[in-house]
Amino acid sequence: MEEELKKKLFRNQKTGWEEVPEEEKQEIEKVSKSYMDFLNRAKTEREFIKEAKKLADENGYKDIMEFETLKPGDKIYFINRKKSMYLAVIGENSVENDGLHIIGSHVDSPRLDLKPNPLYEDGGLAYFKTHYYGGIKKYQWTTIPLSMHGVIVKTNGETIEVNIGENEEDPIFTITDLLPHLAQEQMEKKLKNGIDGEDLSLLIGSIPLKDGDKKVSEGVKLNILNILNKKYGITEQDLTSAEIELVPAFRARTMGLDESMVAAYGQDDKVCAYTSLHAMMELGKVKNTAVCILSDKEEIGSMGNTGMESHMFDFFISEILNKLGVNKPNLLDKVFCFSKMLSSDVDAGFDPLYASVSDKTNAGFIGRGISLNKYTGSRGKSGASDANAEYVAWVRNVLEKNNIRYQVAELGKVDIGGGGTIAYIIANKGTDVIDCGVPVLSMHAPYEVTSKYDIYSAYKTYKAFWNE
Ligand code: MN
Ligand code: MN
Repeated sequence: MEEELKKKLFRNQKTGWEEVPEEEKQEIEKVSKSYMDFLNRAKTEREFIKEAKKLADENGYKDIMEFETLKPGDKIYFINRKKSMYLAVIGENSVENDGLHIIGSHVDSPRLDLKPNPLYEDGGLAYFKTHYYGGIKKYQWTTIPLSMHGVIVKTNGETIEVNIGENEEDPIFTITDLLPHLAQEQMEKKLKNGIDGEDLSLLIGSIPLKDGDKKVSEGVKLNILNILNKKYGITEQDLTSAEIELVPAFRARTMGLDESMVAAYGQDDKVCAYTSLHAMMELGKVKNTAVCILSDKEEIGSMGNTGMESHMFDFFISEILNKLGVNKPNLLDKVFCFSKMLSSDVDAGFDPLYASVSDKTNAGFIGRGISLNKYTGSRGKSGASDANAEYVAWVRNVLEKNNIRYQVAELGKVDIGGGGTIAYIIANKGTDVIDCGVPVLSMHAPYEVTSKYDIYSAYKTYKAFWNE
């Protein structure tokens, strides 16, 4: 009697693994495997968009600029400066009256960028200076293998793609730290000051260039430039028009003796970006126009022309309205007001080692399915986009009728947590938006952990939302 009543009235807090049928386990493994393979090819926003375009092309999606007119069933995309991308499947219903079903994630992740003038020599060693991007714990980025990804653009427009440290034969790079015996002073510092931003210099060389028997000043720096010049045809000044990102050289791997988890760099937010992209590739006909956003610059506030705050997304939707032949004054505003969105960004998973920062009753747990954050913001919900109860109920209904496990959570305790996603940007246009993503452990660290069960739940959630 007690057990029965509890089953009926209590919310389900069991781990999803307890309820997975055998045949679904294979599906979970399949999606997780393709996710890990994708991550290993796409560690930066540019690489993610490049791979996403490949996938979209293979699945019959075409650049919207190739279309004169659009009709239901058309599959389109637009790539914004190689760093962000919007995709859509045109639905049967009127965009004017029924709006769009938007799923938006971001493909940038915390990392170290090279400074515009990065190269210097000190103590017979050559270094690249870095400037960190996004919220990192600096000490986590020392003494790990780092790889170099990005572009160097020459004044003649030639773009050199750089990718060093991912192949086994490649060299890797690292940032050094002090021997504990010599670190008395450093160890007394607060954790956040143990390594300063200016200490994050990447060790890249130690051999000086020789001029016969003559000693060359800054010979190690010169040798590095000579190597770069031979390899890429560049000079030191060319590094000022480059975007080189340093990311962990770790590969995405299955984790745990029970193989239930994924450890990888950049899962915030590539886990939601990949699962939504993967779901979109499998869409057939849809009632409502399905839109997938892969945005850039979320980690630093969504500013700039590749960030969600820019008007590029409005431009994409306007182009759809133009090419559907329905556009008229103010229609874009109306479309947004009648649209629904899942802001697909990761949630901080409850970590028993750091239980004190979470309210256990309202935390997202890894392995319990997709996590909905009704609001984010900080303290008194400052800066939050708070989803309306009516919309939360609508989303719950979609999940429940599709048998998808979900949890509704907050990011940390009331006075501790807080954060933002791209939710508020689209909500400010009048769209119903809720944050909806995969819980992550060690978020923003060089190696983040997710549950394969949740990865699969995310994929199912996004597909169900678009098929609604
Ligand atoms: Mn995120
Ligand atoms: Mn983040």
